[in-house]
Amino acid sequence: MLQDYTLVCMDCGEGFSLGEAIFIKYNSVQEITYGYSAITNNDNPWSILELKAAQIQHFLMQHRLHEIRVLPQGVEKYTGSGDFPSSYLRYDNIKQYLATKVKKPQPDVDLNNINQCVIETLKGF
Ligand SMILES: [Zn+2]
Repeated sequence: MLQDYTLVCMDCGEGFSLGEAIFIKYNSVQEITYGYSAITNNDNPWSILELKAAQIQHFLMQHRLHEIRVLPQGVEKYTGSGDFPSSYLRYDNIKQYLATKVKKPQPDVDLNNINQCVIETLKGF
């Protein structure tokens, strides 16, 4: 049974597993909701797994302005190579990945580099 989800940059073909969808009950929130097992501790959903949070933050910084999606396990069947997005796993370990260089973001420069397709989509909001 396919259960895992993957955070994917559609522009770069990179991503990593978020784990499976799990029930989460936050303190002081009445409803039960869902989260990803790779991000949070099931016994204490307020406890974010530090290394995964760092990986997500680094990923979002590297791929800002790119199209980011959360896709279910099995998406490989739609790719040419069949191993997408595991191509991301070119790093030996997470610490090696976190050591990759990220240039200081410049929001004004980023604003001028937004893809025209994104601008057209934004016009519909
Ligand atoms: Zn990207």
